[in-house]
Amino acid sequence: MKFIKAGGHILIVIILTVLTQLGGLAWLVALRFKRRLLTFIGIYAALSVASIWIAPQFGRIPLNCWASPNTASVQSPLFCTLNRHYVTPELKAVLQDTAASLTTHFPDAKLRVLDAGFPYINDFPLLPHLSHHDGRKADIALFYEDGTGTYLPGRTRSPIGYFAFEEGPTDCAPSQLSLRWDFDWLQAAWPDWQLEEERTRRTLELLSADERVRRIFIEPHLKARLGLTHEVIRFQGCRAARHDDHIHIEARS
Ligand SMILES: [Zn+2]
Repeated sequence: MKFIKAGGHILIVIILTVLTQLGGLAWLVALRFKRRLLTFIGIYAALSVASIWIAPQFGRIPLNCWASPNTASVQSPLFCTLNRHYVTPELKAVLQDTAASLTTHFPDAKLRVLDAGFPYINDFPLLPHLSHHDGRKADIALFYEDGTGTYLPGRTRSPIGYFAFEEGPTDCAPSQLSLRWDFDWLQAAWPDWQLEEERTRRTLELLSADERVRRIFIEPHLKARLGLTHEVIRFQGCRAARHDDHIHIEARS
């Protein structure tokens, strides 16, 4: 019986570590206390807040968790709560500069960031994004408009910005052995909004022209639809997740 109990805690530590990096450690410490859940929440919150100052010593800084004018901020508080909003200073600068430039063309445009990276340790992947392991990668939300063609500032079709796919032709065969999920059954759950092409295109143009950006992933059908030709915008391959629900960018350092 004790063995099963220990196995349960190991599982909790693994899940919390995979989801939040710091949660597993917080759970291990909380095991020594009586009010375990409350203690866990307290320790996790303390570790998360302390990381805002400690992580920069190791080369990662947090993105803005709260929206403010002309700046990039995370799309959902969930990403900050789970410590998935850390990037290198260069990537943060790219995102902030892009957000600021975007508003010179579109004053109402809000650049929203999805999953970025954990606060510590290179080669620690932010699942399910295998490549988000060094703070140099972040995902950006697409821009949307409602049925009347009105831009919806800061809004995404799915609550976390992922898995609301734009349909288009693909050369990828359906495969069970890849991360290329379609989630067909989920699509009807999202509001009937369309891609807001002008702001999405301008964002991709700004990122493509930025020397600090090494590459950008979107699906080829989106690149074609938006009339983009820059070679820094590439296809991520058939084995990786679909990139017609978000934009993936990678900074040089
Ligand atoms: Zn990504």
